[in-house]
Amino acid sequence: MSALTSVIGFPRIGENRELKKSIEAYWKGNASLDEMRSTAKQLRAKHWQIQKDAGIDLIPSNDFSYYDQMLDTAILLNVVPKRYRDLNLGEEDTLFAIGRGYQGEQGDVTAQPMKKWFTTNYHYLVPEISEDTQIKLVGTKPFDEFNEAKELGIATKPVLIGPYTFLKLARGPQAADLEITDEIVSSAAAAYAQIVSRFATLGASWVQFDEPYLVLDKEEGDLDLFRRLYEPILAVRRDAVDAPKVLVQTYFGHIADTLPTLAELHVDGIGLDFVEGRDENLDALAKLAAANNGEGALADDVTIFAGVVGGRNIWRNDYAKTLDLLDEIDEVTPGEVVVSTASSLLHVPFTTANEHKLGDDVLRHFAFAVEKLGELTDLAELAVESDEERAASDALKDNAALFDGTRVAADPQVAARIAALTDADYTRQPARAERQKTQRTELGLPVLPTTTIGSFPQTREVRQYRARLRKGEIDQKTYDDFIAGKIEECIRHQEQIGLDVLVHGEFERNDMVEYFGQNLNGFLFTQNAWVQSYGTRCVKPPIVWGDVSRARPITVRWSSYAQSLTNHVVKGMLTGPVTILNWSWPREDVSHELQTTQLALAIRDEVLDLEKAGIRVIQIDEAALREKLPVRRSDWYSKYLDWAIPAFRLVHSGVRPDTQIHTHMCYSEFNDIIRSIDNMDADVISFEASRSDLTVLDAIHEAHFETEAGPGVYDIHSPRIPSVEEIEDKIHAILTKMDVSKVWVNPDCGLKTRGDEETWPSLENLVTATKHVRAEL
Ligand code: GLN
Ligand code: ZN
Repeated sequence: MSALTSVIGFPRIGENRELKKSIEAYWKGNASLDEMRSTAKQLRAKHWQIQKDAGIDLIPSNDFSYYDQMLDTAILLNVVPKRYRDLNLGEEDTLFAIGRGYQGEQGDVTAQPMKKWFTTNYHYLVPEISEDTQIKLVGTKPFDEFNEAKELGIATKPVLIGPYTFLKLARGPQAADLEITDEIVSSAAAAYAQIVSRFATLGASWVQFDEPYLVLDKEEGDLDLFRRLYEPILAVRRDAVDAPKVLVQTYFGHIADTLPTLAELHVDGIGLDFVEGRDENLDALAKLAAANNGEGALADDVTIFAGVVGGRNIWRNDYAKTLDLLDEIDEVTPGEVVVSTASSLLHVPFTTANEHKLGDDVLRHFAFAVEKLGELTDLAELAVESDEERAASDALKDNAALFDGTRVAADPQVAARIAALTDADYTRQPARAERQKTQRTELGLPVLPTTTIGSFPQTREVRQYRARLRKGEIDQKTYDDFIAGKIEECIRHQEQIGLDVLVHGEFERNDMVEYFGQNLNGFLFTQNAWVQSYGTRCVKPPIVWGDVSRARPITVRWSSYAQSLTNHVVKGMLTGPVTILNWSWPREDVSHELQTTQLALAIRDEVLDLEKAGIRVIQIDEAALREKLPVRRSDWYSKYLDWAIPAFRLVHSGVRPDTQIHTHMCYSEFNDIIRSIDNMDADVISFEASRSDLTVLDAIHEAHFETEAGPGVYDIHSPRIPSVEEIEDKIHAILTKMDVSKVWVNPDCGLKTRGDEETWPSLENLVTATKHVRAEL
């Protein structure tokens, strides 16, 4: 045990989202480039200083990013497609053009595809490698930031996305599969080797390469690829005088299948996640230890970075348990053990110190990024203490008090309702094909029905009204009148441009999860606990504190109001149980399955109330269903889908045959779970397809997918306006793969982050394009 501490990455958006605000001001022309840069620099300094003051030994640098660390890595390695370079923009503007698309004097390009970062709600930009990409070190960001910290007197550990993860996540043009050629391998390895030697000159003692892709199942040749990438890097490390030690950092799961290779390669440090991959990582380490007398053992100069402080939860670490774990790790590790976060702290909020509405009795159970630093140093100190010293430790005593006894009382009514569930509660009648026929006629829908995903722009005005209500500057009636006015305006506008299934616009919702949580028993809310989702977009997940049930009807009022304004069908809009849980901070004292079932029953009550109120189409968003799919395929069903899919069925199984159930997902990668998605038994699904290729449509075709589907025909994450022709092309492409009777036309996600000025013209183009295609049928 070394008593050293390491942080994999720190939140960069700022305690009060300063970085977000500054970048957005720059985008709007309200701040200069220099102002944005200087905010960024101040934030970096502040974040390093906080970690230094907390006593962290290995403080990360280059974990800062204006948009995304994968994108930074791509730029560093010259992996920038020509269409962005041809815009001839400055450094930051090129980066933003790749992240969000660009439409202006210098040209018109769409953004690069964005995907969820493993099992998180963070999104990375997918690097695009084409035949004329020349991978080489062209940037200086990691070196600049290392020097910047050094000038402040802070020695840091530079962190970069490792070459294996970078290449495995990269795609070819049009998001096609990438063939990782020998040339790609050797040029990437050479670039990383150069990075190591540069850091030797600069005086870094460690360099961390993040390789989370290692926690996934291996395909043939993967480990060989890893070896070919790292051998040249490690050769430099061995030859260069004063070269930094190389840490291969993994997270979000275990690497039992890779550990022997890492031991053999003799990397200096191996970062293991003992929160999400505890047992497997421990066993794998133990096996290496047992191989002690010969082949494959771990050398005793290899440091294990033990990820024991979760980077993806907000609950206090249970010290007693973690100390046992550290003891176990130490036992099977011949060399040093460093106490580390289990993943980057990017995925947790900044500090509990800015929560003024939650009492101390509640807050003491939580640890955000800053508090986790304290946990690391506590644990590192305790780890090297004797049993007697530990017994006398106040930190340990205070911590133990959080975990003995019941934190919150159980709700007997919720338990009774769950105990009474039978198979019938999970089965909707009649069979879907029959329902779909009834619905088409009853709802009077044309072929290729058009719709949107639910939200319309949450303009400054909308947000201001909400803020004023919260501060007590306006009364509830004034706010409600405003919302009613917005809904009416939105309905009229949709009628006017000719959409088929309308929505009310979700103006009353701050967030698709928080809004529901506020009307559910068992939830808690924070004021400032923001977490970066993509680019400058942040989310503030609520916290599941106790047993969940519906406190009162949630959406019935505004949905029925919207329906009362029009003869068109208005779609009710709900968030599904799996997504609510995945975008909340779940409890750690009961299973995710139980929490999801509780949520499903609460939303089921809402579905039935909407139906009673005359709402004939109800969308239940499962935007985040895929997000928590376990990283290893062998766990997909048993640890997740086997209860997640039934939970969705439980939500809607009680409705009439002519009530149409929609769902929505914020991604298009479900080829591999397509049958499970079909098994949710929704009538219609919309999903993102605009930024990715349309291979999912092949899967839909092959699987005889029964659910009607609306693959998004344009990208709402970008402010650019798609042309009529562009959308027509998309619809045509869809129709080559899907039966026209099952196709819906819609954008790829909700429009809340967009402005009215791009939203309405885009939708008009969508309707026009659909009409053109209908006319050809
Ligand atoms: N109905 C939600 C909206 O339109 C769905 C958002 C989402 O999928 N993330 O905003
Ligand atoms: Zn979405």
